[in-house]
Amino acid sequence: MKLRNKINLYTSVLFIVLLILMNTSIYFVFSHLMKENELERAQAEVDKVALAIGSAADRIAPSDLLRANVPVDGMIQLLKEDLTSDGKVTSPSEENLGARTSSFYQGEVRELMTYEDSLYVFVSIPIVWSDGSVVNLQVTNSIESTEEMIRILAIVLIVITVIIIIPTLVSSRILSNLIIEPIRTMINTMKDIQKSGQFKQLKLEDTTEGELVEMGETFNHMMSLLKTNYEKQEQFVSNASHELRTPLTIIENYADLLKRRGLERPDLFEESIDAIHSEAIRMRELTEQLLSIARHEQWNIQMENINITELIEDTVNTFQTTYQREMSVLGDKQIVGYTDIQKLKQLLFIFLDNARKYSEELITIHVGQTANEIIIQIEDRGIGIPQDDLPKVFDRFYQVDQARSRKQGGSGLGLTMAKDIAGALGARIQISSKENEGTIVTLYLQKEK
Ligand code: ATP
Ligand code: MG
Repeated sequence: MKLRNKINLYTSVLFIVLLILMNTSIYFVFSHLMKENELERAQAEVDKVALAIGSAADRIAPSDLLRANVPVDGMIQLLKEDLTSDGKVTSPSEENLGARTSSFYQGEVRELMTYEDSLYVFVSIPIVWSDGSVVNLQVTNSIESTEEMIRILAIVLIVITVIIIIPTLVSSRILSNLIIEPIRTMINTMKDIQKSGQFKQLKLEDTTEGELVEMGETFNHMMSLLKTNYEKQEQFVSNASHELRTPLTIIENYADLLKRRGLERPDLFEESIDAIHSEAIRMRELTEQLLSIARHEQWNIQMENINITELIEDTVNTFQTTYQREMSVLGDKQIVGYTDIQKLKQLLFIFLDNARKYSEELITIHVGQTANEIIIQIEDRGIGIPQDDLPKVFDRFYQVDQARSRKQGGSGLGLTMAKDIAGALGARIQISSKENEGTIVTLYLQKEK
């Protein structure tokens, strides 16, 4: 059963039951009180007559006394023990009461009785008669008018009950709507979100109900968690595919070279196996690294003193063979820096890859040092980056000219990753460029420790 109908049913049934209960008790209490009142009145009447008879029996005939005290709608009689009447007077409206057989009672009797479908109060008290015998003074009085009032009361209560049930049903419907409506709105928004397949948030400004706000907030929190997880996953996939591209190309090219000329040239054989081996190791470490970053852990950095020039020469050599590009390394041979080999290699790959993609001519790598830091400059004479785009090239997925970059197989991730890696290494990156002249990427590294 729907929540709306449940609320509706429960509130209506509860209210109607309460109403019926209340009106029934009013009816019974009221009718009991009225009948009790009639009995009291009859009793008082009888007492009064008994007193009058007691004080005037020797002067006035009992039948006269009775006639003087006959009730408006009833009968009064003096009944002897042998059930003969010493006087019986009925009011004109209740003549038929005279035919009723009477009983003699030893004590006082006070009761309600029915005779010929009409309700009466009956009171009988024993009194000592002038001859010393005990007689019953009995008064029977119709309470038809009281009955009529009770009947009217019942009708009024029934009508009131029915009349109140209608607004009750309406108001319980309104109440259930009031409760359900905001929930309905929320469900619809959730359905919309589900259909659109996006991680949208619920708008909670219009909701004031505490529980619903809480539910909405929980939903929103869940959505943002899902969104973060989804983005992290996407980021992992794109980062992984970006970072694995260069080593895979290197492995592919060296393997190709080995296949063609490996047997003839043992020197090439050695170089190829070395390159393939080191790239395979790098790929494994890279995937582990990317996974740990996706799990929100820190970069795993292993800083050590290394000969920077040697590392650059090795990297450039591999790159040159793989992409068949002219490159030259200039500068001091003995520059030692304090860094992580794999991360520095990753950085060099990112910059060299860009230089290779966006230029045709010689790529020059300068290595040098100042008093505080080591400077590596990768210089190409290619298409360059427009001045306006320079600050944006580090943004994720940003590409200066999408058509041009897509042709080169780019995704706009390289420099974003480079910035991250440099940050972890405590290094800085600077890019200066002139359109159609070329680009210089400068990397500042820590000196040996
Ligand atoms: P990816 O590196 O993911 O394969 P990408 O090279 O397009 O793709 P980034 O390395 O982040 O992405 O570079 C961002 C943009 O900066 C590039 O699209 C390119 O337009 C521009 N850019 C970067 N380096 C150079 C460069 N040496 N010469 C000319 N433009 C460059
Ligand atoms: Mg790139």
